Amino acid sequence: MTVDEAARVPVVIVGAGPVGVTAALLLARRGVRSVVLERHRDVYPLPRAVASDDEIHRILQAAGVGEEFAAISRPAQGLRLLDARHRVMAEFRRTEHGHHGYPQTSMFDQPELERVLRDALAGRPESQLRGGVEVTGIGPASTGPVRVTYRDGTGDHELWADAVLGCDGANSLTREAIGGVWEDLRFEERWKVIDVDTTGPVRCWEGVDQVCDRARPATFMRVSENRYRWEFRLGEGQETVRELIAPWLPPSYDGDFDVVRETEYTFRARVADRWRSGRVFLLGDAAHLTPPFIGQGLCSGLRDAYNLTWKLTRVLQQDGDERLLDTYESERKPHARHVVRLAVAMGWAMTGGQDGAAAFRRRALAAACRIPGLTELAGRDLSPPLTAGPLVRRGARRRLPGTHCPQPWVSVDGRPTRLDEALGDSFTVLTASDPAPSLTALAHSLGIRALCVADLGDDGTLAAWLRAGRADAVLLRPDRIVMDVLPAGSHDFTSTAAWASLLHTTRSPVPSARTAPKSLLRSTTR
Ligand SMILES: Cc1cc2nc3c(=O)[nH]c(=O)nc-3n(C[C@H](O)[C@H](O)[C@H](O)COP(=O)(O)OP(=O)(O)OC[C@H]3O[C@@H](n4cnc5c(N)ncnc54)[C@H](O)[C@@H]3O)c2cc1C
Repeated sequence: MTVDEAARVPVVIVGAGPVGVTAALLLARRGVRSVVLERHRDVYPLPRAVASDDEIHRILQAAGVGEEFAAISRPAQGLRLLDARHRVMAEFRRTEHGHHGYPQTSMFDQPELERVLRDALAGRPESQLRGGVEVTGIGPASTGPVRVTYRDGTGDHELWADAVLGCDGANSLTREAIGGVWEDLRFEERWKVIDVDTTGPVRCWEGVDQVCDRARPATFMRVSENRYRWEFRLGEGQETVRELIAPWLPPSYDGDFDVVRETEYTFRARVADRWRSGRVFLLGDAAHLTPPFIGQGLCSGLRDAYNLTWKLTRVLQQDGDERLLDTYESERKPHARHVVRLAVAMGWAMTGGQDGAAAFRRRALAAACRIPGLTELAGRDLSPPLTAGPLVRRGARRRLPGTHCPQPWVSVDGRPTRLDEALGDSFTVLTASDPAPSLTALAHSLGIRALCVADLGDDGTLAAWLRAGRADAVLLRPDRIVMDVLPAGSHDFTSTAAWASLLHTTRSPVPSARTAPKSLLRSTTR
């Protein structure tokens, strides 16, 4: 194959939606160059996603926009299920201090987030976003570089990439190019989405309401100071916006009321049957479609980007083991499918809840929600642990593999720092007490650090987390997911033979935007 070297780039990203731009940022911060090709010249202006969770805020932190996201979002108190008369049946509370170091639920405006992401990308020399460009062909995904063809105002062009990330949304050309088809998870409904700006006295709380009314299921939330979002399943009637939202406003209200948009969407539940062919990958809505009832579609897409980019960086930049890339689909697909199924179940709770048996189900649900800790668990289940695989060593006595390490504040040179910033961008062994010499030697041989949590100066969160997980040490991946544990009382990881080769690289990493502070290395590497 002849490849025009001038047209060769490490990574081509198809689509500059939130997932594509986040992937480009995550790669750029690790020194991987990319070209992002996008049909439109500017951010898609209509609001779509409005809710996200603390895991997503942590990913945005890794992409370098954690503070910027905090500035444009506001914490929400949780989610309530209301009956047809708007009486509260169940309430799932969210705290402002989640496991990942951020509010468990945040409300935001998707175009505003996309603007933040694009501004950050504009400051990265490693990535170039080309707008007004239609990608017309990808592949075939052979063993060598992948050909990407595109068209702009000046004609047809081509690029050759070591990897292609298809972040091109629901009607993905990339999915078609790799021969992927949708697996239908059996949910398809037409809904009306209404965004309103008003300073009027809208009846609401600081969270999301799901109205479980078989005749007219609805979702409602306050998005920002004066912005509100309603979603209604389309029914027989032709009500006006004011008629639909009348239950939330005083009957006499005639003040300001600006309908930002009123759009119909078909909400679907689907997962692509394959997410990869050679070096071509699917991410975001190109790989999965989630009804928005639990606010997780975009969240799943950002998890895809975080999961894939550190693996791709190791393969492209450090000659890491190609098998790392196999774990992208095997880890992300079951997780995304679980989330889609939860969203469908929420749809069921909203629409199937008015028959005789449903009254019993509602009481049971409301009672369950009063059991201490259960709603917190239910919240965590939105993002379950990753299933076992080469990079997640699960087994008896091992609770932590596949779950995230919490992110408390730690101390670096006396300065409070979020844990992830202190850890940098590599694998890390975190230990409950001073690491045994054999553990230090293992870490050394793998080129990773062993840090004792006592030296990190957090508020005790990390030690308590290890204790609760009955672990003396954990091996953390760069995405802060626990890969393996040293069960309490044991001295060494038992399954190193299974994973050590996967961590092996022949080249050192390019210093990343998240290289761990030197002082921390000095004080804690033994
Ligand atoms: C009403 C509604 C409410 C929602 N609420 C939430 C929520 O609260 N929380 C949540 O997490 N998610 C929510 N979502 C889902 C969320 O909006 C999507 O999951 C998210 O936008 C997907 O991002 P993406 O980058 O994968 O795809 P997109 O945002 O669709 O971006 C794909 C990009 O690829 C470009 N593209 C496509 N084909 C080509 C081509 N051939 N050449 C060049 N460019 C191309 C497109 O122009 C587009 O910019 C909601 C969705 C809707 C509709």
